[in-house]
Amino acid sequence: MNINFLKDELKLVVSKKRYDHSIRVLKTALHLGEIYNVDLNKLTIASLLHDYAKEMPKQELIKISKDNFIIESKDYLDNSEILHSYASAYIAKNTFKVEDSEVLNAIKYHTTGRQNMKLIEKIVYLADAIEPKRDYPYVEKIRDLALVNLDKAILLEVNKKIEYLLKENYVIHIDSIEMRNWLLKTS
Ligand code: FE
Ligand code: FE
Repeated sequence: MNINFLKDELKLVVSKKRYDHSIRVLKTALHLGEIYNVDLNKLTIASLLHDYAKEMPKQELIKISKDNFIIESKDYLDNSEILHSYASAYIAKNTFKVEDSEVLNAIKYHTTGRQNMKLIEKIVYLADAIEPKRDYPYVEKIRDLALVNLDKAILLEVNKKIEYLLKENYVIHIDSIEMRNWLLKTS
């Protein structure tokens, strides 16, 4: 996969703000990838495509998700936060012909996480949460933890995210809860 081609394609479909975010996610993911010895090429593709569908109209996101049975529960059909991850993975596979399941899963689960995540999924999930422009309580602590223990970093991140979702009375995706419980047991 030609990386400059991917960057150009991304530029065509997202705003400058989203494009710049994707590049920061890429840089953060590559930094973590070097620490944890992960295939940097896979990380590059997943990082550049993770938000590819983020700015698509909601109706289109719902259509892709419905038509292709890529959303397991209709409870979430309304939630573009989650749909953009699934649609981005779908487009990675069908438009960009990405076949690597680790790359596809890293894109698909970058918003919710899930239990039994592979290393590359953890890194993309975290890179999205801690790229340099992210600013929320405990982000510094999560950044520090990410350099030494990915699981502990994700656990703190998801705890803070769940606290926030509860406070705002937002839906909490079951995959995030399962990821948290899994990390509590294994980390
Ligand atoms: Fe996203
Ligand atoms: Fe993102």
